[in-house]
Amino acid sequence: MATEEKVVETTAAEKVVETTTADEWVELTCAFCQGTGRDPFGLLSVLSTCGACRGAGKVRVKRPYVPCRACGGTGIQPFTRLYCLGCGGKGVQSIPEGAMQTCPVCEGAGVDGVGLYCQHCHGIGEVPVEEEAGKKAEKK
Ligand SMILES: [Zn+2]
Ligand SMILES: [Zn+2]
Ligand SMILES: [Zn+2]
Repeated sequence: MATEEKVVETTAAEKVVETTTADEWVELTCAFCQGTGRDPFGLLSVLSTCGACRGAGKVRVKRPYVPCRACGGTGIQPFTRLYCLGCGGKGVQSIPEGAMQTCPVCEGAGVDGVGLYCQHCHGIGEVPVEEEAGKKAEKK
């Protein structure tokens, strides 16, 4: 009778390409100085060394990492001429592997009420699920 068959297909597009390198650290262009190695604001002098990368123009970040929400990935502390204290000027932050959830304190913004990085999630905007559960248990 009916020759209709239900075909369950797995989309090839969803295939995750895992590049397994022994080195989990990746080198990125310093967000704060955009790779120039100089302090973008030249606070001390125009030749001041970038405090985020110490003049290297590159920063090393451990994977996995996410853009820092406290500074929006710029590496610059909002409303200041200093590098972001959340990510140290890298513009990205390493996160622990595993499940993450939106930070309940900043609700994912990565900043607290006065524009500083959220100390709960360190400006990431997310916290590990388990860690959060543990913290809640400790809370008085
Ligand atoms: Zn730099
Ligand atoms: Zn940042
Ligand atoms: Zn937060």
